[in-house]
Amino acid sequence: MELIDTHCHLTFDDLARNIDAVIERSIAAGVTGWLTVGTDPNENRKAVELTQRFENLYAAVAIHPHDAKTVTDHTLAELKKLAQNIKVVAIGETGLDYHYNHSLHTDQKRVFAQHLDIAADLNLPVIIHCRKAFDETMDILQSCGTGIRKVVFHCFSGSAEQAKLVLDRGFYISFTGVVTFKNAEKTRRAAEVVPLDRLMLETDCPYMSPEPMRKQKINEPALLIHTAKFLADLKKMSLATFASAVTATSRSFFNLPA
Ligand SMILES: [Zn+2]
Ligand SMILES: [Zn+2]
Repeated sequence: MELIDTHCHLTFDDLARNIDAVIERSIAAGVTGWLTVGTDPNENRKAVELTQRFENLYAAVAIHPHDAKTVTDHTLAELKKLAQNIKVVAIGETGLDYHYNHSLHTDQKRVFAQHLDIAADLNLPVIIHCRKAFDETMDILQSCGTGIRKVVFHCFSGSAEQAKLVLDRGFYISFTGVVTFKNAEKTRRAAEVVPLDRLMLETDCPYMSPEPMRKQKINEPALLIHTAKFLADLKKMSLATFASAVTATSRSFFNLPA
């Protein structure tokens, strides 16, 4: 069995300081591919650097919506250059976060649209971070997303109705361990409507360990197996069948070698 953690932050200190052991435990658990996601210029550089160390490790680069207020033309030029590295397979995470509001909405919208331009220019998929801004995110994808090939809503926290709107647009949906949480009934209803050829898995580690490991403070890719088992049960199928389907979806979405 092979699983791919399509959204993790392996450059964050909690994971980076033990990276060899983290990767070893991941492989032992059957999670044999990773996409580490950069969030600012420094993390982006570290993410691309780290991909040089592990064959099945790829990177996505972007400035997180939290930091939209810091983004200048220079930041974007640097980002675009880095995104042309052979191991960079997506632009992300980008989007809108109206929950924390660390940056003004006007800045977040501008920077989101600028990221979509870069993705279209480089023909790369986009990883969307969307919190409490579903309609606005869909609007910007509609008006500024021309030429974008593929879009995934990461850490999906919307309703089944919203999931259907995302699917209707031809987009993809990725679930974290949140789907295993007791109070995440809405997320489970959403997961039920997503077909496996549009569904991907992620840890978003070091955050949010899945049940039954929720007490483990630092989440890591090895724990993806719990989210996979949980969703295989929800879909009433064997883990092996589920894993091979979502791994195929992830490979084709991010254009990863088999
Ligand atoms: Zn995110
Ligand atoms: Zn993330």
